[in-house]
Amino acid sequence: MTPRDFTRTSAVSLIASATFVLSACSDSSTPDSDSSTGGAASGGLNIVTTVAPITSITASIAGERGTITGLVPEGTNSHTFEPPPSAAAQLTDADVVFINGLKLEEPTKDLAEANMADDATLVEIGTQVLPESDYIYDFSFPEDEGKPNPHLWTDPTYAIEYGKLIRDTLIEADPDGQSTYNENFEAFKAQTTELADALEADQASIPEGDKELLTYHDAYAYFAKTYGWTVIGAIQPQNFEDPTPREVAALIDQVKAEDVPVIFGSEVFPSEVLEEVGSATGARYEDTLRDDDLPGEPGEAGHSWAGLMRYNYVTMISGLGGAAPELEALDLTSEVPDGAEYPQ
Ligand SMILES: [Zn+2]
Repeated sequence: MTPRDFTRTSAVSLIASATFVLSACSDSSTPDSDSSTGGAASGGLNIVTTVAPITSITASIAGERGTITGLVPEGTNSHTFEPPPSAAAQLTDADVVFINGLKLEEPTKDLAEANMADDATLVEIGTQVLPESDYIYDFSFPEDEGKPNPHLWTDPTYAIEYGKLIRDTLIEADPDGQSTYNENFEAFKAQTTELADALEADQASIPEGDKELLTYHDAYAYFAKTYGWTVIGAIQPQNFEDPTPREVAALIDQVKAEDVPVIFGSEVFPSEVLEEVGSATGARYEDTLRDDDLPGEPGEAGHSWAGLMRYNYVTMISGLGGAAPELEALDLTSEVPDGAEYPQ
């Protein structure tokens, strides 16, 4: 890794509210609303999702009208995840499959396309929400690999777009549930807006010029652009292995030159490299971001997309010398029950 590999975003431009296009789920692909494959108590939709944050957003919108099964176990590397053979049966029974897209889950997408029923709908949420002109490529997601940074959901403005597309897809697949999906989406949007407002209030407490992120895993590119942070860099190479000793040496020089106060790692991607860089540079090493791993256990209030993001924002803001009272005071309980299956 050479210093020029680091992306330094002059992070001022706000992302215009992203337009989204409803998926190509034409009428012909709409499953019956009383689909016999639905396993929910209500006889509702069978919905399959991938990573836990997307499973949670889907559950917020679907509520009790669907049975939701996440495929990617929490705390695993979703970027290299290969679905087990058992996932084929789950995909065969699905009415709707939501994946992030943007090339995050290609093996799962392939398995879905090979196994889904003809009248089932596959939605690549991020791919539909993000115009190609807004794709971000960087060190961990280089343009020549053709895989843009897929982490839209760490940015609340995009999470709302995710919710909208999920709502519209579910209404298309299950028109009888329209009022429920609309209500649930409005509740999700209201809570997400509160979260975003608290984030903006609390991030103002970070000392001037220090809204800088150096993370191991590169999950905050879009967030940074929207909320005026600077991504100094991410350490994880695009093959998701640790950087080489040469790259680490270059990284140490870079951290010293940038005078980075703290480096953020995570439990999903534990790395001795970060510790090494920390001790060689004097930068503090916080290894407590959670990436895709929702806090608490399934069924608990904080075990949600909002709980995850609150936790990560608080970690980032306090790690950089700010305080996060507004975020900490948020009530993140939801009226909508989350009965989704989150493999652990
Ligand atoms: Zn990731």
